[in-house]
Order: sequence, then structure tokens, then C-alpha cells
Amino acid sequence: MKPTDREPRDGVEVCPDCGQDIIRRYRVRATGEQFWLCEECDAVWRAGADRSVADFFYLSDFLPAEPDPWKVIERAEGTQQPGPLQALVDLAAKGELSGLALGMHRADALTVVGVPPDPAPIGVVEAGDVSLTFEADTLVGVSVRFPPTGVRWPGLMPASTAPRLTPVPRPEALAALRDAGVESLSATWPDDRAAEFWIDGRRVRLEFDQGLLSAVGVSRASN
Ligand SMILES: [Zn+2]
Repeated sequence: MKPTDREPRDGVEVCPDCGQDIIRRYRVRATGEQFWLCEECDAVWRAGADRSVADFFYLSDFLPAEPDPWKVIERAEGTQQPGPLQALVDLAAKGELSGLALGMHRADALTVVGVPPDPAPIGVVEAGDVSLTFEADTLVGVSVRFPPTGVRWPGLMPASTAPRLTPVPRPEALAALRDAGVESLSATWPDDRAAEFWIDGRRVRLEFDQGLLSAVGVSRASN
């Protein structure tokens, strides 16, 4: 694993337990489980926990069976979330996905998904498992289905930049969003098959099927 960036990509967060150091993303080598750690006082936050408050939970509590927990963990900063989770976070937090970005011009968005310019523009364009929603010439919504057989990425969203599909369990999807600060914003839970968040004027909707992420949609709130 070669870190490409020495700086914590998630921004600098000072430890609320000791106030002395920065909370960094770590992982357990054997399992890959990620968590957050203050190297100064050993305070630990599990993925998805609120790191703005001290929780008085420490490395020895997190790995109680390890005589020297420091030997079985390593820094994970500079590494990205697994593909689908990173795509989810990018889409939710930035409104971006593999060349698409909310607010871009219709013609550019259609080029990305490989759809010829339409003579009679309609509001929703479907391409593969990607669905685009337009208001006039502006892209205002992107949604992606994650079928069990694999996402069909259309047009210029090639395998090299579009996330490879692996099944994302509901808790992991929600934890990734919480880590990105999304879930601290208002969220509603219509039922256990859907979750909705609002972030920076965008509505993010997740759908789950049998405990796995099955669709993600992001749209700009219209006035
Ligand atoms: Zn600390």
C-alpha cells in the first residue's frame, strides 16, 4: 500500500479527548476494519461514530485481546474507501460521479453517458444503470442502480474510473456517509429499505435490497 498523500484526506480533526493531536484513519491489518485513532492518547472512534465528541473508548478497549494493539494496526489515510463506497461518498458529498457532476450542461452530461444529443430534450435520460435528470439544459439529478449482476456503466464511464461493483452492506454504506459528514445532517428513514439525507442543497437517497445498497440518487433541490 503506497500512500499517495501524506495529509489526512478527510481534513484535520483535533482529538476531543486530549486536544493534543489529530485523529487519523487507521485499519486493523488482519481484517481491514477501519477506525479513527488519536496517536497521542489512543482514543478510538469506530467507523461512523461522531468524532466531534470524546467517547473515552481507547485502543485497548477496541482490541482487548491484543497484548500490543499497535502491532496489529496501520495508518489507512491516503487510501480510499473501496470503490462503491468512495463513489457513494463522492456522489453524496460532491454531487460527482465518474465524469458527471450536478450542474453541468446537458450536452456534456450526455457525452459522458454516450447518448447522442436529443432533438426533443426530455427531463430524464436513462443510459445503462445510470439515470440523469435535467431541468432545461442543466443536470440536476444523477441516480445509479447497483444490480447484483453488476452496474452497466454507459458511454465514457469506463471501468477505469467508474467504481467496480461489490455488494455494499447497509451498515457500511451508512458508516461511510457518516465518516464523510453526510449523516450529521438531517436524515430521514422512510423504512429500512431507504434512507435520505440533505447536504448542501442536495437530496441524497439510498435504497437497499436485502440489506445491500441497490441504488443511489442525488438531486439538486429545486426551488
Ligand atoms: Zn487524543
